[in-house]
Amino acid sequence: MKLNVDWHKNNKMPKNPSIDERIKWHLAHVKNCECRPIEGKILEEINKRGMKI
Ligand SMILES: [Zn+2]
Repeated sequence: MKLNVDWHKNNKMPKNPSIDERIKWHLAHVKNCECRPIEGKILEEINKRGMKI
């Protein structure tokens, strides 16, 4: 587990994010940082949409 502090500083999750915003954030996040895996509802939504992680 490694936190990419700079990435997080520059990529804040929006307030009250929509599901699309959360998916977008997590896809960008997983490429840049290892602090948190994609899981649960977000992972389900990504799979439902046939998006690649
Ligand atoms: Zn992170």
